[in-house]
Amino acid sequence: MRDLATGAGLGNVAVVNSCAVTAEAGKQARQAVRRLKREQPDRHVVVTGCAAQVDPNLFAAMPEVAAVLGNDEKTRPETWRGLSLRETTLRRLADASGTGIQVGDIMAARDAAPYPAPRAAQVRASVQVQTGCDHRCTFCIIPFGRGRSRSTPPETVIRDIRSLVESGAREVVLTGVDLTDYGRDLSDGLTLGRLVKTILGPCRTCRGCGCPRSIASRPIVTFSTPSRARRG
Ligand code: SF4
Repeated sequence: MRDLATGAGLGNVAVVNSCAVTAEAGKQARQAVRRLKREQPDRHVVVTGCAAQVDPNLFAAMPEVAAVLGNDEKTRPETWRGLSLRETTLRRLADASGTGIQVGDIMAARDAAPYPAPRAAQVRASVQVQTGCDHRCTFCIIPFGRGRSRSTPPETVIRDIRSLVESGAREVVLTGVDLTDYGRDLSDGLTLGRLVKTILGPCRTCRGCGCPRSIASRPIVTFSTPSRARRG
């Protein structure tokens, strides 16, 4: 998001990417907004993330907040370009309604929002391959923040991993809300296992034939499943 904001000429924006997984997380997001504005009063504070998606009015009502962006909107360059046009009067004027809220119906989103290709700043890098969840565990708010299960097409995943490896990453972590659901919305038979096989396939070939460095000449793909989150 920093790149998107900068690319739209919004160098003076601070983004708070909020979490809604517990009430405490939402409270901490609001505290972060207040602290940011207190320490950097000239900055326009834009709030996004799951807490903003679930309750945009709560954040829009805060005097410190210039705009509230939904989870689908936040990764779209046009959203930030729209903010750029109104930078001088950003507060409450970031959208046609004048409320400062740009939060759509996340349940209506049918494809994974276009994340900019990640940059490798470290040895280990993350690539989001899936978002959202079609389950409805009674205690869990995540589907209302992230929407339905959507997968990133394999060609996009491979493009991003190639870019990361070329930038120095040596370990790539595939991330998602419900990774086991990967591919179901894209095509019959596409699964997380097939995706991993596709990623690792060139690795085996290249090691044997001595091709120039390519997508999977070195990466290690790891899986991480939150131990406490279980399906209902
Ligand atoms: S499967 Fe996980 S993310 Fe989905 S509703 Fe259940 S706890 Fe939440």
